[in-house]
Amino acid sequence: MRKKQFKAESKKLLDMMINSIYTHKEIFLRELISNASDAIDKLYFKSLTDDSVTLTRGDYRINIELDKDARKIKISDNGIGMTAEELEKNLGTIAKSDSLNFKNENSEDENAQDISVIGQFGVGFYSAFMVSEKIEVTSKAFGSDTANKWVSSGVDGYTVEECEKENVGTDVTLYLKEDTENEDYSQYLDQNVISGLVKKYSDYIRYPIVMEMSHEVPDPDKEGEYITEIAEETLNSMVPIWRKSKSEIKAEDYNEFYKSKFYDYADPLLVIHSKTEGQATFDALMFIPENPPYDFYSKEYEKGLQLYSNGVLITDKCAELLPDYFSFVKGLVDSADLSLNISREMLQHDHQLKIIAKAIDKKIKNELKKLMTNDREKYEKFFKTFGLQLKYGVYANYGMEKDALKDLLLFESSNGGFASLKEYVGRMADSQEKIYYACGENASKISMLPQLDAVKEKGYEVLYFTDEVDEFAIQMLMEYDGKQFVNISKDDLDISTDAEKEAIKNKNEESKELLEKIKDALDGEVTAVKLSNKLGSHPVALSTEGYVTLEMAKVLSQMPGSEKVKAQLVLEINSEHPIVKKLEGAGEKELKKYAMLLYSGARLIAGLDLENPSEFTDALADMM
Ligand code: ADP
Repeated sequence: MRKKQFKAESKKLLDMMINSIYTHKEIFLRELISNASDAIDKLYFKSLTDDSVTLTRGDYRINIELDKDARKIKISDNGIGMTAEELEKNLGTIAKSDSLNFKNENSEDENAQDISVIGQFGVGFYSAFMVSEKIEVTSKAFGSDTANKWVSSGVDGYTVEECEKENVGTDVTLYLKEDTENEDYSQYLDQNVISGLVKKYSDYIRYPIVMEMSHEVPDPDKEGEYITEIAEETLNSMVPIWRKSKSEIKAEDYNEFYKSKFYDYADPLLVIHSKTEGQATFDALMFIPENPPYDFYSKEYEKGLQLYSNGVLITDKCAELLPDYFSFVKGLVDSADLSLNISREMLQHDHQLKIIAKAIDKKIKNELKKLMTNDREKYEKFFKTFGLQLKYGVYANYGMEKDALKDLLLFESSNGGFASLKEYVGRMADSQEKIYYACGENASKISMLPQLDAVKEKGYEVLYFTDEVDEFAIQMLMEYDGKQFVNISKDDLDISTDAEKEAIKNKNEESKELLEKIKDALDGEVTAVKLSNKLGSHPVALSTEGYVTLEMAKVLSQMPGSEKVKAQLVLEINSEHPIVKKLEGAGEKELKKYAMLLYSGARLIAGLDLENPSEFTDALADMM
């Protein structure tokens, strides 16, 4: 019989599995059981609408058989089964291979490579090759008269041929590898090891996982003697973890469940388990991952929670259950209020589902608020990873959610560390009426802005906006607790006393002619040149007039199709700086050069580039 080759990506993965030094090889069992359970789910789901399925709910089961002598483990299910084509398609290629990213392929640390691939993708069926030298899959698909056998000993390919099998379903037989110095594969032939693994990883599986167990029991006929009794036992409790009461569940149980179900290698940052009764009755078990899911920033990423109706999976990713700003949340919802044979299209309009979604949204917000108060460090960790989502959430849909989200926001601040808006307002100086912020690429760049000193000197804290969306989100908020937001780079930043205002106004009057000349020299680049008393020891800075700030202009002009949006720039010159004297004494040609130099410097400080860097450098060299 001709051997068929695995698809290229599958081959790589397979090779990795065969030579794996992954320390959690035991997960193979979980993967095979979960495939078996999925296959049963599919048949059960079919039975709801298809009378030709003769099995009833109680007939479904997953069977494990151990054969010590032949070093075999057989995992059988009476689920939907696979045809020859399906065997080939499903086991000859792995579904997720397109998105598989073997980026560490040449990495020295094979273990790291293993863990990231196995951890991220939960490589399913192939993980069985971590412990097996040969695998046989015998399957009969529902509705088919013939059965087929798929056999593979690894990378050199696989065969599929017709075979005998009485019942619909699938048997997966593993031929375990020989033990080595470092690896004890024989342990998987021990009934206690297997039953322990089932409890650890697959306890919640809704179908009985059955195995013949032998126990030494007292001999009823001969006192003091023991006999071996062999009996079938159901190894799993079958109660889904989310149905159990919270007091029964340990933190590790949640963590294991999360990792196995949602293919993460790290424990979740936050677990939210809620039981809700009332308008809608449902259990929800949700997790906030510690790291963004591997494809989170790709177009392929789909948000959503698994949706169950009374323990039966209806859909794997119900997007309607999560708002975009919580798209990173993983988990599931189980409600008896939903009809089982509801279609995806109908789900979108389901009234009950909308009520559940609303309750979930509220629940997550509350839990995050709690986390912020009770474990600030963890919250900051969360916010650094997913805070951007929340900021977009404030901005999205015309600010519909802004009030519900505003107290979840954090910003770095001139006080060091992160501040919430509430904290900021709570510690505002008596004389302070507004919330000050500054924009820039990162906190250290912002902390060097010339305008910052004057505001800080007043004793005012400044929030640092380092994400492009920040200023837009804040525009959407308009105010917090009655306090307006002000960009410290705004031309009309109002922090001076009346006397100071009067003084600077007079100085500007006196130098009016000079300032006009500088403006003309800059040839339309700026809308005004002004003397300022807000720059501390720095000579110049750029500020803006009108609605559009520098940061907004940067963002808006990057958007495709939008015209170049320009901010109205104001060149501010420090009225106390010796440079003013220099400017006053300059001839016309010199003044032009000075103006260009100062303006260029101010642009660089503001994080803008120069339109003509070589002109700038020439002028600088000239001066020197
Ligand atoms: P995943 O389960 O993540 O899709 P696997 O590699 O574990 O990836 O399995 C690939 C596919 O093979 C499954 O999606 C399923 O269609 C099929 N399959 C695996 N095991 C079984 C089984 N016991 N019964 C029916 N189909 C199965």
